[in-house]
This record gives sequence, structure tokens and C-alpha cells, in this order.
Amino acid sequence: MKIMVINCGSSSLKFQIFDLDDKKSNVLAKGMVEEIGKEKSKLHYKNDKMKKDEEYIKDITAKDHTEALENVATLLLDSKVGIFKDKIQVDAVGHRVVHGGEKFSKSALITKGVKEVIQECFDIAPLHNPPNYQGIIAAEKIFPNVPQVAVFDTAFHQTMQKEAYIYGLPYELYERYHIRKYGFHGTSHEYVSQRAAEILKKDYKKLKLITCHLGNGCSITAVKNGQSVDTSMGFTPLEGLVMGTRTGDMDPYVVLYIMEKEHLGIKEMNDLLNKKSGLKGISGISNDMREIMEAAANGNTRAQYAIDIFTYRITKYIGAYAAAMGGVDAIIFTGGIGENAVSIRQQVLEPLAFLGVKIDKKSNESKEKEKIITKIGSKVKVLVIPTNEELMIARKTKWVVEESNHIYR
Ligand code: ADP
Repeated sequence: MKIMVINCGSSSLKFQIFDLDDKKSNVLAKGMVEEIGKEKSKLHYKNDKMKKDEEYIKDITAKDHTEALENVATLLLDSKVGIFKDKIQVDAVGHRVVHGGEKFSKSALITKGVKEVIQECFDIAPLHNPPNYQGIIAAEKIFPNVPQVAVFDTAFHQTMQKEAYIYGLPYELYERYHIRKYGFHGTSHEYVSQRAAEILKKDYKKLKLITCHLGNGCSITAVKNGQSVDTSMGFTPLEGLVMGTRTGDMDPYVVLYIMEKEHLGIKEMNDLLNKKSGLKGISGISNDMREIMEAAANGNTRAQYAIDIFTYRITKYIGAYAAAMGGVDAIIFTGGIGENAVSIRQQVLEPLAFLGVKIDKKSNESKEKEKIITKIGSKVKVLVIPTNEELMIARKTKWVVEESNHIYR
């Protein structure tokens, strides 16, 4: 089955085309359109016949996501670099949709009703759901007879129980506005937790796992018996760990206090919490962990604070989630920082020796992308697993389409 995966941001459209069956998952082509809505946009593209570092780049005009996808479709039929002849033969399109609210605990075949729910969530995911929705509209126009599937970042966390997702606010506010913890990065947490079970050759339904997705956005999830039981991001992706530019957890009164002292409005406060805080705010250098690590190595104290605060909070959450699940079998690191930053993993894990984590220094430092980094006999295993949200979206799209074919047959 050939599946196109689409992930739209406010000014970007990323895509991958997979050839999937039960045994294989080949990427036939992938790329992205950047700077949608500007005078000139850029289309980056690569097919499976191109060399590793070869890439096709073209200046295009794309005033919106539909025009961006039209350009992609034209390129897919190109006689030189395209992968299809005459007609684009994809069997389904899978869309990454960030927020599915409380209505979706699974991926869904896109219907009028599904689109309405995605729109209802604009209010609580104003940066993400509108462009995700634009991607759906674009794909429906360009591939009118192809089934479209929405894969929600929040869906995996819908198994959380009330004690994990209800805040200590008046309960009426939950009833009135659905204010609760939703959690994000669900597709990534699900992918790496399933992959960990495969690598460990254990039954996914019988494992207690803690998955740490550490990229620009960072979140951590407790996965018990194949289900998310708690996660660090909340009503929005601001809660939880310290991130590239976001605060993570803090006393909510701080918000009121800063607004009063600094005479800030809602928009300015929002910018401060989401764009000027976290690693960037603490270090005063950058939101990029590589730059912070370099500055810390050169003796910059605020860069070192940023690293210490970042790692301390991850360690603390791991302890909390081990308690929430009554133990932990394995901890998984993923995302740009989780996959690459050897010393960050070391600093997070060292204090966890009491849980039975025995780090293997050599494996932690090895160039291997997917690996176990604890010593043989370590009670708690630690794994590094590169995330692959696109593959997970493609697989889920395939399942939804096969299930719906089965129902309608
Ligand atoms: P996004 O959440 O935008 O997908 P990524 O998962 O690519 O982001 O993660 C980006 C983060 O990963 C940045 O902070 C970057 O500095 C960090 N990172 C990437 N490679 C390394 C590395 N070798 N060492 C330390 N940090 C790294």
C-alpha cells in the first residue's frame, strides 16, 4: 500500500511517501515546502533513487498549502525525479493533527464530522490545528478520491485516568471548557515504546516504560502495559519539562506576578512563556542544546545552569513516573537531544542508580543509532531509539483504511 504522510505547520508542508506492507516500509520520496505564503517558497525533494546527500531544490510560488501540495504533486509526476507516471497512485493520505481533544482516542478516517472536531480544537491549539486542517483541505482538493486519515498527537494519551489529567481547578471549568491535561508527542511516545518492546523481545502489554522525547519541545510519558498513564505536557505543550524556549512546570502565580510587575498583556506573556524561556531564557545564549553544551564546556555558568536544570527535571519526572507505575522496566530516549546528547543522558541517569540503572559508558558513547546503553544485568534497561513519527502515521493510516474497507465491504 502506498501512503502519503503530510505534516503541515503554519508556513510549511512536510511529506513522505511510503510503500508499506506487513514486512517492509520503504520511503519512496520525501520533502518539504518552506515559507508558504511568502513571495517565493522553496520545495525540497528527494526520492529513493537519489544519492544519500543529493537533494532537489526548487523555488516555487505557493500562496497557501493547496498550492504547495499542487507543486509537490507536479514534481511527483516529473519525468526525471518523479516516482509516478501519468497518475499519482497513493492509496491513502495520513495527516498529522496535533489536537483531537477528548473525542479521539484513535486515528480516524476523515469525514465532515472529524473535520468539525479538528476545527473545534482551534481554540486550544491555535498554532497547530489550523495549518493541520489546511493540509487536509489541500489534500482533499488534490487527491479527491483518496481516503484521508487524521492521526492525532493527543490520541495516545487518552488512556490517562482522571487522577492524571484533571487539574486542581474548580471542576466546572473542566466541564465548561474541557480544561485538562491532554499531552502531546503521542505518536512518538507510542512508536518508541513499541519499538523498545520489540528490541527487548518482551510483551508490550506487560512492560512499564518511561519514554523521554527530548527535542525542541520535550515531553516524558509513563507507558504501562501499552497505554499512556501519565505524560508531562498538559492542556498545551507548555507544561512539564524545561524545553528549548518553553518554561515547563512552575507556580502559576508567577504568571500573574510578572504580568503585573512588567506590565505585560496576554500576548506578550504568552511570548515570554513559550518563546523566550526554557534553555534559551536560562542560558541567555540559545535554545539549541549543542550551543549550550559548547558554552558550558567553555565555562559559561548560565549555560551550565540551563543543562543542570534541564536534566534535573527529567530525572525527577522519571522518579515520579516509576512511582506512578509501581516500577519501571525500561527508560527510552528519543528526539534530537535524547538521541544525540551523550552527556545529557549520563547526567539524567546517574542519580537513578538507586532504581537499578547501571549505565554502560561505552554503549552510551557509541555511534550506533538504536541501542541499549545499560550494562547486562541492569535491572532497569535504558534504550536510545530514533523516533519515526512519519512511519507511525503511515502505519496507522494503513490500519484505519483497511479497517474501514473491512467494515464497508
Ligand atoms: P524538533 O523538536 O524541532 O523536531 P529535534 O528533535 O531535531 O527538534 O531536536 C532539536 C534539539 O536537538 C536541539 O536542541 C539540538 O541542539 C539538539 N541536538 C541535535 N543534535 C545534537 C547533538 N549532537 N548533541 C546535543 N544536542 C543535539
